[in-house]
Amino acid sequence: MSIKNHLLVFFFVLLSTCALGAQNVLILGGGVGGITAANALARAQIPVVVIEGEESLFSHASNVENWPGIISISGSKLLEDMKKQAIENGVIFVKERVKDVDFSKTSSFVVTTESLKKDNKKNEWIASHCIIAMGRNIGHLDIKGANKYIGRGVYNCAACDGLIFKGKNVAILGSGDSAISQAEYLSKIAKKVFIISNTSTFNVKDKIKMENILNLSNVEVFYNTRVKEAIGSNEKLQTLILQKEERSFSLQVDGLFHTLNLYPNTAIFKDKIKLDKDGFIIVDDMQKTSVNGIYAVGDITEELCKQALVAAAAGTKAAFYIQKEYKEVSLAKVLQYKIAIGKPILLEFYATWCTSCKKVEPFMQDALVKMHSIEIVKINIDQEEEVAKAFNITAIPTAIFFDKGIVVKKAQGFIEVIDLLSEIGNNY
Ligand SMILES: Cc1cc2nc3c(=O)[nH]c(=O)nc-3n(C[C@H](O)[C@H](O)[C@H](O)COP(=O)(O)OP(=O)(O)OC[C@H]3O[C@@H](n4cnc5c(N)ncnc54)[C@H](O)[C@@H]3O)c2cc1C
Repeated sequence: MSIKNHLLVFFFVLLSTCALGAQNVLILGGGVGGITAANALARAQIPVVVIEGEESLFSHASNVENWPGIISISGSKLLEDMKKQAIENGVIFVKERVKDVDFSKTSSFVVTTESLKKDNKKNEWIASHCIIAMGRNIGHLDIKGANKYIGRGVYNCAACDGLIFKGKNVAILGSGDSAISQAEYLSKIAKKVFIISNTSTFNVKDKIKMENILNLSNVEVFYNTRVKEAIGSNEKLQTLILQKEERSFSLQVDGLFHTLNLYPNTAIFKDKIKLDKDGFIIVDDMQKTSVNGIYAVGDITEELCKQALVAAAAGTKAAFYIQKEYKEVSLAKVLQYKIAIGKPILLEFYATWCTSCKKVEPFMQDALVKMHSIEIVKINIDQEEEVAKAFNITAIPTAIFFDKGIVVKKAQGFIEVIDLLSEIGNNY
C-alpha cells in the first residue's frame, strides 16, 4: 500500500471513530454489487471505503451482452468504468483482502484485512455499516493449464456463455445431470459436443432425456477418460490432452464446460451471520442480513438469479436502506472528512450583509465554472455557525484551500481571497 493510502486508511479509521462517530460504510468486495453500492453511497455524501480483494470473476466474462444500453462489453472493461465513476464520486478503494470480521458490537463493526502481497501486513477497520459483496469462487480445476483459461475457453455455465461457441467444438466435463443439461443446450449451438466422463456410465435422474441427448449426431462421449491438460495460445484454449487407460491423445476444442459448482466466499462469516444450507448469506427484501447494520448483495447471497445486473440492483438497494438508517452528520464533520481523505477542497466563508463578500462573488462564480478538479463549498456563516467555529473563522470573506489533507493557503479579505482564487486557478 502506498504512503498516501496508509494515510487515507489512518484518517478513515480515525475519522470513523472520532469525527464521524463511526458513521461510515465499509464494503467488503469490489465486484459489480460492491462498486454499485459504494457509488450510490458516495453520491449521498456518505463516507465509504471498498476493500476490493482480487479481481472479480466477472472480469473473465469476455462478452457481456445483457447490460442495459450496451450492446457488448467485456466484464473487465465494465468493472474498470464502474470503478472510475465511483472514484470520481469519492469512493476510496483499498487493495486488501478481508481476513476476519467482528460483528458483535452494533454500529462499531471491526473488519480485519490483509495485504494481497505476501507481506503479512494487516489493517483494522471500524464501520457503522458493512455491505458484504464478496461473490463466489470456482473450485480448483485439477487439470494442468486449465485455470488460466477460465473465461477464455473454460466456463461453467452453458446458458451464460454457450453462444460464443456457435458452430464450434466444445467439450463438457462430467457424468451427471448438469453435464447432460449443458450438452442439451450446447448441442443446439455448437458444431460438435464432446462429453468427457471419467466413469463408464452416467449418473442422471432422467434416463430418457439422457438417451436422447447422447444419440444426437453432434454429441460424442468419451467414457473412462480424464482431461490431463489444457493447452492454447495465451489468448484462448485450443487443445485438450485426454487420457484413457494407458492411451493419451489430443482433442481440438474451442471451449471446455465443467460442472464444478461455484461456492460462496462465506467461510469467514460462518457463525457470525445466518447462512443457508449451501453457505449463501440469507438476506431480507432490503438486503439486510441477520445482523443489524450488516447488508449483503450479489452472488454471495441466496439470490437465485446470479447475474451482474441483479448484483448491481441489490447494491443500489442496500445503499438506499443504509441512507435511511444513516444518522445525519453535520456539515462540519463531512467537510473535515473530505479534507482528511485528501480531496482538494476550497471553503469560502461569507455573509449576505458583507459588502466585501459581494465583490468576491463574480470571481467565485468564475472559479466554480473553471475549477473542475477542486470542490468549492460556499459557507454562509449565519446559517452554518458550527462550520465557521470548526474552522476558526474570525473575519469574512475568508477562503481556505486544502489539498492532501493540509491547509495549502488561507486568505482573509477581498484582495487576498481574489489572489488565492487566481493562484489556485493557475495551478489546478
Ligand atoms: C465467466 C463468467 C461470465 C459471466 N458472464 C455474465 C454475463 O455475461 N452477464 C451477467 O449478468 N453475469 C455474468 N456472470 C455473472 C456475474 O459475474 C456475477 O453475477 C456478478 O459478478 C456478481 O457480482 P458480485 O458483486 O456479487 O460478485 P463479484 O463480481 O464476483 O465480486 C466479488 C468481489 O469480492 C472479492 N472478494 C472475494 N473474497 C474477498 C475477500 N476475502 N476480501 C475482499 N474481497 C473479496 C472478489 O475478489 C471480487 O472482486 C458471469 C460470471 C462468470 C464467472
